[in-house]
Amino acid sequence: MLTTVTGLIIRTADIKESDRLVTIFSEETGVITAIAKGARSIKSRQMSATLQFCYGRYVLYQKNDYYWIKEAELLESFFDIRKRLEGLALASYLCEILSDVTVSEADKALLRLSLNSLYAIAKGEIPLRKIKAVFELRAAAILGFSPDVLACRECEKKDGDFYLDVMDGSLICADCRAEGEMAFDPREDDGHERHLLCILPEGAKIAVGYTIYSPLERIYAFRITDEDMHFFCAAAEHYLLNHLERSFKTLDFYKEVEPK
Ligand SMILES: [Zn+2]
Repeated sequence: MLTTVTGLIIRTADIKESDRLVTIFSEETGVITAIAKGARSIKSRQMSATLQFCYGRYVLYQKNDYYWIKEAELLESFFDIRKRLEGLALASYLCEILSDVTVSEADKALLRLSLNSLYAIAKGEIPLRKIKAVFELRAAAILGFSPDVLACRECEKKDGDFYLDVMDGSLICADCRAEGEMAFDPREDDGHERHLLCILPEGAKIAVGYTIYSPLERIYAFRITDEDMHFFCAAAEHYLLNHLERSFKTLDFYKEVEPK
C-alpha cells in the first residue's frame, strides 16, 4: 500500500552504499522515517529532494518494517540556507528541536512555523536571533506550554518591567518578586548557571505576547529595541530549553558562529 506525505526533511543519515535514511516531519503523520534507495547516487532522481531542509511530497511504501520512498517531488529546497554558516547552524538547531518534540503527532501549526523560519533564514532579511527566539516561543506555545504574559501573577499589574518564571511561564513584577531571588541577566551570562527568572522589560514582554498570539504570516512584524531584543532572545531560549529539559549540540554550535 502506498502512503503520500507532504513534509519537511529534518534529518538525514547515510546508510549502505548509496541509500539515505530520512526523517520527515509531515503534515499527515508527524515524524516518519523512510529509506531513499540509491538516493546518494548521482543518477538518482531522488537525490535533490531528499536532502535536509527539503520540503516535498513523498510517496512511500512499506516493506520489511520500513518505509521506502518510491517517488519524491521537491516543493521547496531552502537551498540558500547553506549560503551562510550561521544560517545553516540555526536551521540545524530548529530541526533538532523538531526531531525531539514532534514524536508522531501531526501538527500543521508547528510545520508551518518551521517552514516560515527556514524561509526567513534562506531569505536573509530578518536577523537570525529574531527568527530563533520567535521559533522557540511560538513552538513552546504550539506544544502546549505557552507562557502567560498578560499580568503579574501576584498583583495583576499589567504595565512595566517584569520577570518571566521559566518553570510555569508566569510573570512577576519587581515589587512582588521574592527578596533575594536571582534573575537571569543575559549581559552577565556565564553560560552555566541556571535561573528560574528571566528579566523581561516592558518592550520584551510585549514582543513575547505578540509572538505567541500573532497570525503566523505576520509573526516577525514587530519592532523592538536592541536592548529589549537581548532580553527577549534570552527569555525565549531559557524558556524552551527549560521545558524540553535538555540541551542541543546544534545550539552550542550556533552559539559559536552566531553573528554578535
Ligand atoms: Zn506584582
